[in-house]
Amino acid sequence: MYFLMTNDVESFSIPLNRYDAETAEKVYKQGLPRLLDLYARHDIKCTFYFTGTMCELVPDSVDLVKAHGHEIGCHSYSHAEDKALDVLSYAEQLTELKKAKKVIESLAGKIESFRAPALRLNGDTVKALEETGFTSDSSICPQRFDGPFTFGSKRKLKWLVAPRKPYFLSYESITRKGNSKILEIPISALLFSFTGTVMRRSPVITKLLQNYLFFEAKRTEKPVVFLFHPNECLDFSGKAVPTRRTTNFFEHLFADVIRQKLKLKNLGTNSLKLLDEILASASEYGFEFVTASEYTKMYKD
Ligand SMILES: [Zn+2]
Repeated sequence: MYFLMTNDVESFSIPLNRYDAETAEKVYKQGLPRLLDLYARHDIKCTFYFTGTMCELVPDSVDLVKAHGHEIGCHSYSHAEDKALDVLSYAEQLTELKKAKKVIESLAGKIESFRAPALRLNGDTVKALEETGFTSDSSICPQRFDGPFTFGSKRKLKWLVAPRKPYFLSYESITRKGNSKILEIPISALLFSFTGTVMRRSPVITKLLQNYLFFEAKRTEKPVVFLFHPNECLDFSGKAVPTRRTTNFFEHLFADVIRQKLKLKNLGTNSLKLLDEILASASEYGFEFVTASEYTKMYKD
């Protein structure tokens, strides 16, 4: 039974709702050290997917993670919404991936594991990943129901039919098994995803989900994949900036006001306590912690 603890490293401030250099610096000075300390206490090796822009803003953050023996992966170049891979052409995706790979590899050496920003990708991404020398992707959340109010959620409806166990991606549809060389290692989910975001919003739902996923792993050898962001364990004092995505009152209430409240729940050291419990339960249950590239190699052998 394998457990992949994965982390997306980006310069996004959750309370301020924007990407900025200040947050990148804070991720390096506070988020990563807190997280690396937690992982060292559990004596586990993890995968950290960096955006190219994060690497450019704080190159030392890559050295820091690498020095702790974790795997460095790629989270594309830019996390901006207009650079979501599924809205770009094949040529544009290739440019983004090449740019990201170049900057990350200049700091980390050879990388081969990938996760798409906002978990948005399409069939062309599979081709572009092969072209740029990646071997695995971890962006699909099988059987997660995304609700009607998130970005790209219509496309993510396909997730409901995606295979639960790792599979080689198809060029035609990313939620089907195919002949590409890219191994999809799905993020664990069942209606809700096994992620820091859901964990912070509802520790109870996460606990139920965890029980199911651990049982499933024991029965089917499906690996458990948890997704966390170092920016979730940053302290924040000040005024949060909500997004207003709609002018319709009810939509605004549900999509913006409530979401915003939930988004800020358990940020900072609280998130680490919750994550600490999950990692302890996983060890106790008998999981072995591996990185995405270690898992991919084992799968191919
Ligand atoms: Zn991300």
